[in-house]
Amino acid sequence: MVLPVLNSEQIAAQRPAKNLVTPDRPYAWMIESECNVDRVLQQVVTLFLTGSECPFRCTMCDLWKNTLDTATPKGAINEQITFALQDLGVDPGNPGKSEVSAIKLYNSSNFFDQRAVPVEDWDGICQLVQNFETVIVENHPAFCGKALFEFQSRLPTQLEVAVGLETIHPEVLPWLNKQMSLEQYRQAVERLVAGGVRARTFILVKPPSLSEQEGVDWAVKSIEFAFDCGVECCSLVPVRGGNGTMDQLRAAGLFEPPQIASLEDVLEAGIGMNRGRVFMDLWDSQLFSGCEVCREARLSRIARMNQTQRLEPGVSCHECA
Ligand code: SF4
Ligand SMILES: [Zn+2]
Repeated sequence: MVLPVLNSEQIAAQRPAKNLVTPDRPYAWMIESECNVDRVLQQVVTLFLTGSECPFRCTMCDLWKNTLDTATPKGAINEQITFALQDLGVDPGNPGKSEVSAIKLYNSSNFFDQRAVPVEDWDGICQLVQNFETVIVENHPAFCGKALFEFQSRLPTQLEVAVGLETIHPEVLPWLNKQMSLEQYRQAVERLVAGGVRARTFILVKPPSLSEQEGVDWAVKSIEFAFDCGVECCSLVPVRGGNGTMDQLRAAGLFEPPQIASLEDVLEAGIGMNRGRVFMDLWDSQLFSGCEVCREARLSRIARMNQTQRLEPGVSCHECA
């Protein structure tokens, strides 16, 4: 299947309207259960911070929906973190009291883009999160330079940076418009690991133009590549519609979201590698396609494998077997 090549302007032009967000509140916040590096289930505060939009325009991205058109105002990130921790009942001075050990500060962009997180806010942020065992942020390789290590030097706890690999498919990666080569990715991850920063990554399951089986195979190859580069954790993201470009591709027959059974196959292969943690993102699981009879059983199996990091017995279904 040949995909239409789209530049940043064309991708932006196909977008529906953004959601209404304000710079004094995250757009979502929650406590989740997630296995830590020692395979112990821990509680993690996940904040989806509202901030400036990412300067890249990846074809599959829908994170821009909850971003600001302007630079993030100074003080806004600190205000959002303070508000969410209070709302969740987590004391930043002692998060362990609520059995929380890690915090994700996901900002729908790049944490070390100063338009997204003003450097003036760093000390306040570090103060708010310094008592968590691990602080996880997201960042494109282009922003994995000096600033990142300057921030790390102010944070007296483990910094973990999530860097999107997306896919190592040689035609699909450039088509994603992520403006990143595999070599840039490898160098960024190696720099992080050498500097004592833990690396996790996002990998797409079934980007456009791939068949169901190709979607599984390329996700598995991408997990292997990420582990080879030095990441400790792979977070798998089923590609979904809803951002304009993906909906147009779907209408043209060039994209279908992955089947739930394919997500099981990729997660099984990733966990079976035994090289680090592997999670399947179950956000928007109502958008995944699959057999209605065994759908819930398969989603529960994925959720259990996410939490235990062990393979679970397969689901047998009279309908789709
Ligand atoms: S780099 Fe990440 S946040 Fe930015 S457009 Fe691409 S996927 Fe979205
Ligand atoms: Zn079934």
